[in-house]
Amino acid sequence: MVRRVSIFGATGSIGQNTVDLIARDPDAYDVVALTGGANIAQLAEDAKRLGADLAVTCFEDRLEDLRAALDGSGVEAAAGQGALIEAADRPADWIMSAIVGAAGLAPGFRALRHGTTLALANKESLVTAGPLLLAEARAHGATILPVDSEHSAVFQALVGEEMDAVERIIITASGGGLRDWPLEALAQATVADAGAHPNWDMGQRITIDSASMFNKAMELIETKEFFGVGPEKIEAVVHPQSIVHALVGFTDGALMAHLGAPDMRHAIGYALNWPERRELPVNRIDLAQIATLEFRAPDLRRYPALGIAQAVMETGGRAGCIFNAAKEIALDGFIAGRIGFMDMSGIVEATLDAMSTEFSLTIPPSTLEEVLEVDHMARDRAWSCIRQKETA
Ligand code: NAD
Ligand code: MG
Repeated sequence: MVRRVSIFGATGSIGQNTVDLIARDPDAYDVVALTGGANIAQLAEDAKRLGADLAVTCFEDRLEDLRAALDGSGVEAAAGQGALIEAADRPADWIMSAIVGAAGLAPGFRALRHGTTLALANKESLVTAGPLLLAEARAHGATILPVDSEHSAVFQALVGEEMDAVERIIITASGGGLRDWPLEALAQATVADAGAHPNWDMGQRITIDSASMFNKAMELIETKEFFGVGPEKIEAVVHPQSIVHALVGFTDGALMAHLGAPDMRHAIGYALNWPERRELPVNRIDLAQIATLEFRAPDLRRYPALGIAQAVMETGGRAGCIFNAAKEIALDGFIAGRIGFMDMSGIVEATLDAMSTEFSLTIPPSTLEEVLEVDHMARDRAWSCIRQKETA
């Protein structure tokens, strides 16, 4: 059966891995829509190659460029936020949500309305609006499949299991590019230092978020939201080899681990083929060659983001949304050279504190509009925290 698929964020790192898998089996898929940003050439090339019905750039002023790049191909061109929503309205059986940041929320929400299967790479959706997103899926009989590698691993370890029997969920963290630096040196880490990853090849932002473990902090919150387990049952462990992606502990003491090469096509492919398993073009693991798998407890002085995540999970409500917005701004501040590497966590904490004087953080947002409003407020607040720090 030919399946109709769309890829949101097709030109990004997750998007390109998704395009790669789909292009390997063109007869199996009918590509409905691809979306991207400023990389018009890539978007147009993939849309033509995959025979998509529609290509959308999120930038309205790039519509003419996209039209020109698609000229004569029969692929329809569109641009802007409204066009992204219209693309999400096009009937599809499977949709990849791989836009980065809060911009990925609205198209994903919209797609759920049509009862589609949403492969969710956009972790911000769960962190900022987890309960709303899951409720939307339930209301429309839609399915959400996790694509973050750790959550795909947990999902796979849970196949055939009862959630009542889950005692704990352990997600692994590589420790990032600075994991062996002396603690005292971290404050001086530059963008280049933090932007080099030992195992995964990813974009600059998520790589720096790995070094600070803000990425892992997001993933702890994602775990709570997606699997519905309490924060006391969720932990992170440092695992430098990035071979074990997550483990689920059961009430009988058994631990089920998921192992795989660090290649996002594992998680993307699992979501694409679910509930079946099919051959994937990923490296096979040679355990004897790897020889050693190490694990160690994360040092919270080195990774204060993990402590903040624990507090955010306990607070619930709007805390996840504020956390996500503040950490994005703190990262902007670090990349712009306005704050140091170790100042990012302080900015996030200060933003959460400041916002808690405006309203109770425990009140959950009841609509997507409210989520976006809290997101904007938190971004403004985080910038003022950065300015305060600069003038202090
Ligand atoms: P990326 O920056 O490589 O790609 C992002 C995509 O979103 C691009 O297609 C870009 O054009 C598009 N985009 C950017 N801003 C947009 C906007 N305002 N409106 C519409 N489209 C916009 O990002 P990525 O690394 O592929 O990550 C995508 C998502 O998947 C993120 O939420 C990330 O946290 C998550 N994720 C990524 C990885 C990974 O290995 N890269 C792993 C797990 C989860
Ligand atoms: Mg991950």
